[in-house]
Amino acid sequence: MAPDTIGAELGLLPGTELLAVNDRPLEDFLDWEFLTADEAFVVRARLPTGEEIEYDIERPEGLPLGVALEPPRIRRCANHCDFCFVDGNPTGMRQVLYIRDDDYRLSFRYGNFATLTNLKPWDEARIAEYRLSPLYVSVHATDPVVRRWLLRNPEAPEVVPQLRRFAEQGIQFHTQIVLVPGVNDGPQLERTLGDLYGLGTPVLSVSVVPVALTEFSKHSLVRAPTGEECRGALVVVDRWATRVVTERGHPWCFGADDLYLQAGVALPAAAWYGDFEQRENGVGSVRYLQTRIAAAAGRYGDWSGKRIGVLTGTAMAPLMPQVVEALATETGAAFEIVSLENGVFGSAVTSAGLLPGAAFLAALRDRRDLDLALLPAEAVNDNLLFMDDMDAHTLAARLPMEIRLSYDFADALADQEVAA
Ligand code: SF4
Repeated sequence: MAPDTIGAELGLLPGTELLAVNDRPLEDFLDWEFLTADEAFVVRARLPTGEEIEYDIERPEGLPLGVALEPPRIRRCANHCDFCFVDGNPTGMRQVLYIRDDDYRLSFRYGNFATLTNLKPWDEARIAEYRLSPLYVSVHATDPVVRRWLLRNPEAPEVVPQLRRFAEQGIQFHTQIVLVPGVNDGPQLERTLGDLYGLGTPVLSVSVVPVALTEFSKHSLVRAPTGEECRGALVVVDRWATRVVTERGHPWCFGADDLYLQAGVALPAAAWYGDFEQRENGVGSVRYLQTRIAAAAGRYGDWSGKRIGVLTGTAMAPLMPQVVEALATETGAAFEIVSLENGVFGSAVTSAGLLPGAAFLAALRDRRDLDLALLPAEAVNDNLLFMDDMDAHTLAARLPMEIRLSYDFADALADQEVAA
């Protein structure tokens, strides 16, 4: 229980079961957050002793409740996509990586993409009541037959009417299309973009992301797109984006950085991405980093003469020189991009965020020439564990140089904090 909070004042003990707010039973963190948003409410709780007790709470504005809830039970996915990342996980990884989650609550809270194929009527009502917006939705295709085929779920509801129902209740969406060559590209991509655009302004953005496979994926059923196919998809994306810029003043439809990379096409300028709303999804990530580095200009310490290793996956590595160029000028340091193959998932998994601790250890343990190594902060979870359960502190203890976890370089190298 956090001190200086209502929870501490009431003497709520760890292990207390929160049962209801204003007589509404609590299902999860969403109920708790939304039902306790008022200034006054009644909480029914069961203490660790088994005693049930009601608290009449009046909360002065700004005073936090200070209650840490247990993590929610994640909703399991009802689909069986051929390209499923979870099915592509080898054995020996963090247990959580084997969970196929498809949870609208995490979509709202953390921006995880969900397919909305496992919603019960009760969930739909809740999304509307609590205004869970924006939601991040994996659409992939709007043709119901193609979508069901992609999701390997004959029960998947039609996505366009579903989104329309939500939109009518004030819900907005960021959407993604994972591009599977020969299935949802070409005319299907056109149709999907047209249908999403037809839903109007509630669809805030669409990203087109080339399917990422691992050595363990079902290669007999799904393959990665060729450069030619990526260029073809970009032509469609650009045509839609150009049209939407004219009609709405912003592009709306974006190719993932990886799509440009695989197509061999230069990335658009930073301004194209607006607020970089899908940067966590690899859309505009390079331009975002460049923007962050520029924002910290003049605030970097003196790193002159230092050698700094920048560790990343094979997807970002070719793009990194353009990212660190300005950084070298700002800091006086010499940067070396260290591109890592994913020794656990296989070389086809190119994202920095999925690199295991063992890959960093192997790349750095003999690098006494480096003064500092910057590791992608996305590669660890909240407990500082890499994908293979290696702890970041354990890794640091086994390396000859200092390591820092970094999202955007400025967070690791600037002397003062840089506003987001
Ligand atoms: S929606 Fe598809 S890719 Fe996502 S977890 Fe489910 S089966 Fe895997």
